[in-house]
Amino acid sequence: MRQLPGVLIVEDESAIAELIAVNLRHNGFRPTWAMDSASAQRELDAVLPDVILLDWMLPGESGLTLAKRWRANARTKAVPIIMLTARSDETDRVAGLDAGADDYIVKPFSTKELLARVRAVLRRRAPEQVGGLVAIGALSLDSSTYRVTFNDQLLKLGPTEFKLLNYLMTHAERVHSRSQLLDNVWGDHVFIEERTVDVHVKRLREALGVSAGSMIETVRGAGYRLTAQVAQPVASSAGL
Ligand code: CA
Repeated sequence: MRQLPGVLIVEDESAIAELIAVNLRHNGFRPTWAMDSASAQRELDAVLPDVILLDWMLPGESGLTLAKRWRANARTKAVPIIMLTARSDETDRVAGLDAGADDYIVKPFSTKELLARVRAVLRRRAPEQVGGLVAIGALSLDSSTYRVTFNDQLLKLGPTEFKLLNYLMTHAERVHSRSQLLDNVWGDHVFIEERTVDVHVKRLREALGVSAGSMIETVRGAGYRLTAQVAQPVASSAGL
């Protein structure tokens, strides 16, 4: 039998933790609960979960501090972290993402949304990548031949757009802030305005066309995400 994916819930409010745990259990996950940073660390030392749901406001060390520490640790750095936060300010979201969170959910949230986010970070942990080829939905990118195809149609991309798409596809389903994209695609030794990212995302969408272009979502106040969960092309391309 396949092992159920483990989810560590770090949350000091027991009512919220319990609600999350019940929903996870009913949907094929194995939740464990830690109510503060010390017990969360003990859980992590004992067994690595597949996903961590991390509350921002905890007694003692904050979720933000924990996320930074876990990202800096070789053993825990690959475990996806979804921050749970009552803060919806743009600066707070960016701080969460910059601390290494893969995604965040603003309280109050629907359990449906929470489950969707958990599934999404699990999916992106195992991208379909063999050699230089990465495929998401009908979109394929081969970094050994510099070819990008959508529904087997060859697409023409500039070098920066290619690098950007390569990064987004190999780190799909997670939100990347503009500064993260600059660091990872352009290199952090280069000084470029964050607006440059928007320009290249726009060019990339144009090069991909309406259907494939709509796989790159703008996450308001946070950044960009490449997702296989494409909405109707006409609807999702409006206003981008
Ligand atoms: Ca809390």
